[in-house]
Amino acid sequence: MPEQEKKVIILTAPSGAGKTSITQFLLANYPQLAFSVSATTRAPRGAEQDGIDYHFISAAAFEAHIQQDDFLEYEMVYEGLYYGTLKSELNRIWAQGKTPVLDIDVKGAIAIQKQLGNQALSIFILPPSIEVLKERLANRNTESPEKMQMRLDKAEYEISFSNQFNAIVKNEILDTACKETAALIQGFISK
Ligand code: 5GP
Repeated sequence: MPEQEKKVIILTAPSGAGKTSITQFLLANYPQLAFSVSATTRAPRGAEQDGIDYHFISAAAFEAHIQQDDFLEYEMVYEGLYYGTLKSELNRIWAQGKTPVLDIDVKGAIAIQKQLGNQALSIFILPPSIEVLKERLANRNTESPEKMQMRLDKAEYEISFSNQFNAIVKNEILDTACKETAALIQGFISK
């Protein structure tokens, strides 16, 4: 694939903003997009599958990837838990003639934007409000109150960076947010 066609779509948002639902909509409806599977040291949750949702790896394996310069970016997103975008993942997707969709945190998104410039389209998914975010996280019910509070604090912090991205989509009504995101991506890919 020619260098200028190696594009990436970055979706970033506080957890609970609906980023996963929007990502699933995009992947189901746009076959030219493919999910960039991050590596993480956190344990799988619920029905998550290794190699599909994440590459679930040990801290030692993650450290080895860092040493080998395998990551385009990596972050300790939560206390003690690492997440990273593997260069090999992007190359795998580009080799298929597709565009990778990255679901990553705000810091990772900014790091990739800096490296890839115009090759990247970064979209920040904004929750309607902190109250709605709280409800969504509570309904998810997969974590302890402490962990939930940790995510909420991080959400407020992340929202303060929202104006650093190419576009902001407010997820008030999921269907509308999905269509808005898809339109932005189509505009970017056809450029
Ligand atoms: P979760 O544990 O809920 O799956 O993800 C926690 C956060 O880590 C989310 O904001 C998600 O977007 C982010 N994340 C997932 N993969 C990566 C990655 O490769 N790099 C960075 N920087 N963040 C990631």
